Amino acid sequence: AKGQGKGRQVVFDDRMDQRSADQARLAADLRCALDTDQLHLLYQPIVEMPDGTLAGVEALVRWTHPERGPIGPAVFIPAAERTGLIVPLGAWILEQACRQAVRWQEELGAAAPRTVSVNVSARQLREAGFAFEVAAVLGRTGLPPHVLTVEVTETAVFDGGTALEELEAIAALGVKIALDDFGTGHSSLGLLRTCPADVLKVDKSFVDDVTTDGPQTVVVAALIGICDGMRLRAVAEGVETAGQAAKLHELGYRYAQGYFYSRPLPAEAIATYAPAHQPA
Ligand code: C2E
Ligand code: CA
Ligand code: CA
Ligand code: CA
Repeated sequence: AKGQGKGRQVVFDDRMDQRSADQARLAADLRCALDTDQLHLLYQPIVEMPDGTLAGVEALVRWTHPERGPIGPAVFIPAAERTGLIVPLGAWILEQACRQAVRWQEELGAAAPRTVSVNVSARQLREAGFAFEVAAVLGRTGLPPHVLTVEVTETAVFDGGTALEELEAIAALGVKIALDDFGTGHSSLGLLRTCPADVLKVDKSFVDDVTTDGPQTVVVAALIGICDGMRLRAVAEGVETAGQAAKLHELGYRYAQGYFYSRPLPAEAIATYAPAHQPA
């Protein structure tokens, strides 16, 4: 039995080594990806309900690995956070999105997305001088600050350090702040008192079950009341069905994002965006 235990231990260690080797490889490849044009951004419409008119877009990063093909951000963003690579990667994403936003304003005028949202990870927010970098990008690109929305999670804000100060400095620039995946963190409601938020994105996990009239529906209904009372814009995330869209609208939601209206699109497709569906 002892021998067997030892054997298992070896297998376990091998697997650990394999996993950390994979992670190291991924990080090295990602560093290269940044320099060799393997990354690009897609933009998912954030729409006005019920008809699905374009209100804004959220930038979502994509990586096409030369050998492994497409790798999703849910895989490589955590790796980038662990290695610190998210700092240069995030700076690149922010710059690309702001440049694109200016291009839309030039090309589409009043039909351009009114807001362009960029995800910012905890690690970026912790970096001293992040707000300064945001100001510099706005200066370089000429994007009006109110067009940019920075999306942060509750966990990122509570990561400690200077995250909250950085957010306050970003808000002072006139940039909008969105609380992403709202309701999945540990201190959602307390955060509303301390964090300078403009937008609250109600997490998909609540939206999934909104039509069942169970606890999730109660939460979704309560959140719109809080948002209205606090002059926060509520966005329902991950809307996939006509039933969900109709229920959200009935509860008083005005903004939604999800496959029901549109998948994330290449920048060029935003000019011709039309909602995939409209609720009956
Ligand atoms: P997120 O910020 O919550 O972004 C929304 C995710 O939900 C996106 O996945 C989007 O494609 C997906 N989604 C939108 N509507 C629906 C729907 O109706 N159904 C379903 N099943 N999914 C929907 P994506 O692009 O794979 O990104 C996953 C996560 O990776 C993001 O979650 C965000 O946390 C992170 N991420 C993506 N792009 C960036 C980025 O540029 N920077 C940083 N720091 N993180 C990013
Ligand atoms: Ca987001
Ligand atoms: Ca989200
Ligand atoms: Ca999410």
